[in-house]
Amino acid sequence: MKQRLPVQGAQGDLLRLVATGAAESRAGLARMSGLAASSVSLRVEELIEAGLLVEEGSGTSRGGRRPRRLCLSPTAGVLAVADLGAHHARLGLLDLSGAPLVVEEVPCEITEGPEATLDLLADAFDRLLAERVPPSVPLRGVGTGVPGPVDPATLRVVTPSRMPGWNDFPVADHLRARYDLPVLVENDANLMAAGEARSWPGRENLMVLKVGTGIGCGAIVDGRLHRGRGAAGDISHVRVSSDSSVICACGHHDCLEAYASGAALIAALADAGVAVRHTSDVVDLVNDAVPEATSMVRTAGRRIGEVLTVLVNFFNPDVVAVGGSLSAAEPLITSIRAAVYERCLPLATRDLEIAPARAGRDAALLGAGSLLLDAVLA
Ligand SMILES: [Zn+2]
Repeated sequence: MKQRLPVQGAQGDLLRLVATGAAESRAGLARMSGLAASSVSLRVEELIEAGLLVEEGSGTSRGGRRPRRLCLSPTAGVLAVADLGAHHARLGLLDLSGAPLVVEEVPCEITEGPEATLDLLADAFDRLLAERVPPSVPLRGVGTGVPGPVDPATLRVVTPSRMPGWNDFPVADHLRARYDLPVLVENDANLMAAGEARSWPGRENLMVLKVGTGIGCGAIVDGRLHRGRGAAGDISHVRVSSDSSVICACGHHDCLEAYASGAALIAALADAGVAVRHTSDVVDLVNDAVPEATSMVRTAGRRIGEVLTVLVNFFNPDVVAVGGSLSAAEPLITSIRAAVYERCLPLATRDLEIAPARAGRDAALLGAGSLLLDAVLA
């Protein structure tokens, strides 16, 4: 079953406050929303009647009568989200609070083009929904991350690298034709940033790097994902200084990605006579203390750090979180840190934390859930 959420305006705001854990009682909702208690109560009754909220047990007491605890109804609905990579897709069904009910990985070649890839994704969603969700629990929205720039106005992919056939493809329209529900399409690094931000409570300004086959970065400004015109945070095609000249997948010379991504390291290792296929193989070589690999990862970290010095000076983030498959190679983060601390202004680095990403492998799915909930309640 699929169904649009029957809420709007203030009802949606109240539902979001409960779904995100910001409020768990009528009094809490009144405090957080600024609405009058009577008005909150009326809307809460409507949300309970609509089967979206339940009121049960007792909340945290502040003395006096214990407030009854509001939570999402287990039948309020599910969100289907995915994170598309080059060779696989990670899929999840989440409840409306963003908690994963099931997560699964399926093989999927993004080079097969958008129609085949998105249909495979939707077939996998449908199978998971049939297997894992009771028919009485409706699907409320569908979202996917893609490893390329997304125009937030049209939800189309714009000039992606290594994604033949995807340029200007109407990803959201294609999914909407199948589901007729709110649809989220977002750059994968942006999703990861939105998911990672949940793991840094109290930190409002973050740069979240995804260093895998490619290099991506998402920016959280004042607690919200900063999309800009759609390509905000894209550091992969910043030009780096180099003695040699390497052509990037984008057609320009000497982009960061052409030197410091997993794909670049795999190519450089091949030139050095070490044949590996995946970024995880590079990490294995580093962990086995193979000098060529360690040295290359260290140089990659330094190059990424040099690009970051400009951005850290300009943006002054609280946190630079580094994730993606190559981040498991320890010299990467230490080299990034060294470059940033050496070159940035002291005021910019005094309280800056440069650390491994915390949200783990499901960061992008968690981010998709949180952004999709916004779309569902919009
Ligand atoms: Zn480039």
